[in-house]
Amino acid sequence: MGIFSKLKASLRDDWCGSCRTQMDETVRQLYMLPMTVGHYCPHKDAEYYKRSLRRVARRAEIPPGIYACEGIVYRCPECGHRVVKLLIYLPVRDRKKYEDAYLFEHGELDDLIFRQDAGM
Ligand SMILES: [Zn+2]
Repeated sequence: MGIFSKLKASLRDDWCGSCRTQMDETVRQLYMLPMTVGHYCPHKDAEYYKRSLRRVARRAEIPPGIYACEGIVYRCPECGHRVVKLLIYLPVRDRKKYEDAYLFEHGELDDLIFRQDAGM
């Protein structure tokens, strides 16, 4: 599946499959993914992101040529189902060059997203 169709599909990620309800966006947090441009390597496992992502306050804190990762939490107002989406992109001047999008639907990334102390 190409990157474009993957992103198009991800537009529906904020819908609860069981309730057919639009979920609320509850948290949006920016991270630095320590991989340099040209050396992007896809990872699907939550453990990798828990180990590697470094929380940053704003995009300007990410050095040039390093990937960014947005963590977005959606919560269904009906059943409380929670989904964490990771959007990985390379910041290029004012644009975002999207690389990958992953969904974690079983709380795999709760430690990361809800960790108060960024652990840096
Ligand atoms: Zn629901």
